[in-house]
Amino acid sequence: MSALLKIENLTKRFSQHTAVNNVSLQILKGENLGIVGESGSGKSTLARCALRLIEPDAGKVLFDEKNILEMNRSELKDFRRHAQIVFQDPYASLNPRMTVQDILQEPFAIHKKSIQKKTAQDRIEYLLDLVGLKKDYLSRFPHEFSGGQRQRIGIARALMLEPSFLVCDEPVSALDVSIQAQILNLFEDLQTKLNLTFLFISHDLRVVRHLCQRIGVMYQGEILELNTADKIFTHPETEYTKKLLSSIPQVISR
Ligand code: ADP
Ligand code: MG
Repeated sequence: MSALLKIENLTKRFSQHTAVNNVSLQILKGENLGIVGESGSGKSTLARCALRLIEPDAGKVLFDEKNILEMNRSELKDFRRHAQIVFQDPYASLNPRMTVQDILQEPFAIHKKSIQKKTAQDRIEYLLDLVGLKKDYLSRFPHEFSGGQRQRIGIARALMLEPSFLVCDEPVSALDVSIQAQILNLFEDLQTKLNLTFLFISHDLRVVRHLCQRIGVMYQGEILELNTADKIFTHPETEYTKKLLSSIPQVISR
């Protein structure tokens, strides 16, 4: 399998603080790569740099072999159709004044994608169904939904332009545990149906365990170890990973 995303020697500093320090990793096509680490370890900064939502200070980010850090505006716009992000907070990430219909339609407008009205509407309704929401929700506003439903709307929006790569930054952390499992099952379902590649970020090892083939453990801006999920759980290489593992309950159920 070839790499969809390659991060090479990526560094991002905020004034004196190095949030991401010389990180290199690859995500293969069709793979889910998990990144775990405690709060403040640099996960979100890494995710944002990977999509060039913020500018790194050094390094390369290659998507399909092209360095996104060297792309001009129009190339970057094209890249953003293929690479999307789902954020942690389903409350903050949806415009409260827009209906679900408007929210899901917006990506087409931003990208001025030449798509027929009917095709766009078909896509909206297809995705709404795929993420488990009813068609008559289209006329409603975000405040009318639960956290889990809002996250489903955020996920549908991220999928509107048929991306191949989805970055999920703590997508279930704001949700109740029972709802977390449902959303994780949804991600699993979407991956098989839509052929997606995921960069999946969580502070919780349990969340990435079932979804990700490989997991990188991040600590103070660096990837301490990156191995198969199986290896991370059965033969962790670093004391820090062992510590993370020992802090999760023994019975893992989903
Ligand atoms: P995580 O997602 O793992 O919790 P972050 O990437 O959000 O970690 O943050 C990593 C470090 O960078 C933290 O020390 C955080 O305070 C700092 N940081 C993140 N974003 C900014 C910013 N915009 N300005 C200044 N410091 C930041
Ligand atoms: Mg974060």
